Amino acid sequence: MQAVQYRSPGSAPEVVTVPDPEPGPGQVLLKVAAAGVCHSDIAVMGMPADQLGFPLPLTLGHEGAGTVAALGAGVEGVELGAMMAVYGPWGCGRCRMCAKGVENYCLRAKELGIFPPGLGAPGAMAEYLIVDDPRHLVPLGDLDPVQNVSLTDAGLTPYHAISLSLPKLVPGSTCVVIGAGGLGHVAIQLLRAMTATRIIALDLSEERLELARRVGAHDTVISDANAADRIRALTDGDGAQVILDFVGAPPTTATAAAAAGLAADITVVGLGGGTVEVGFGSLPYETTVCSPYWGTRSELIEVLDIARQGAVSVHVETFSLDEAPLAYERLHAGEITGRAVIVPGS
Ligand SMILES: [Zn+2]
Ligand SMILES: [Zn+2]
Repeated sequence: MQAVQYRSPGSAPEVVTVPDPEPGPGQVLLKVAAAGVCHSDIAVMGMPADQLGFPLPLTLGHEGAGTVAALGAGVEGVELGAMMAVYGPWGCGRCRMCAKGVENYCLRAKELGIFPPGLGAPGAMAEYLIVDDPRHLVPLGDLDPVQNVSLTDAGLTPYHAISLSLPKLVPGSTCVVIGAGGLGHVAIQLLRAMTATRIIALDLSEERLELARRVGAHDTVISDANAADRIRALTDGDGAQVILDFVGAPPTTATAAAAAGLAADITVVGLGGGTVEVGFGSLPYETTVCSPYWGTRSELIEVLDIARQGAVSVHVETFSLDEAPLAYERLHAGEITGRAVIVPGS
């Protein structure tokens, strides 16, 4: 089959032919219908080899959806032909965190060598994908796989981050969303569906700010050195109660710190290498800083339910498998508005 692989440190992704995978005991084979292209892949491809933590070549794609094509020995309760979304942050299924469905914080994944598809295990950017366990599948039902595949990360990750701050997102509060790209434009819609907070979106691109307004941001601000002052001005000097930084680079974490109000939550989601200093006097009193990772199994079910209610729709630009390297190039150049999705066979 064809697969999009990251083959050697520092190289661009390539479309290659690899053997067709066969599901082992307990595994499920999906015929991939759609795979999302994520900025974190670009961050991973920029890491030195010794920081990767898994061997190359790697088939990319940690957002996946497809139909059940074959079942490994012993798999029951999954119907051939059913359309499924893949829960990506695989864990052991048995530890204290996995028992709660919090497989994104599995206590044993590292020691057992368990990796998410596309981030260590072979990913969804191929004609077929092996899913290690049926518990990592959520039925899509009548949700379109191309339109909704990105909810498995670009929806689940902001949903989890927002859930952590729900008590602060009361009417009259302000939430700043930094980065109105793949995750940010979904975060804005989730905030509108889940809260009555006022949303201020930041981005470098006027085109993405236009998308932010279209999907529900109340105000938009160009993400430059003056952004925190603009946020203060828009909030009568108070600053924001919640700041979700989907970029996480040094300039945006600096903006996040400077825009925080009293007892704010600063949540750094993006992999941009920025940090927020915490210490007496460095932030407003009782400000909390946190950097979560992805989301839980039950949260993915909830995100797909929100999509079923029509409250979230991903702005999608589609590419064929052959065009995947181009999709990464365009994402890297900041030329994707919304989410790029690979559709094998298109
Ligand atoms: Zn991602
Ligand atoms: Zn576990």
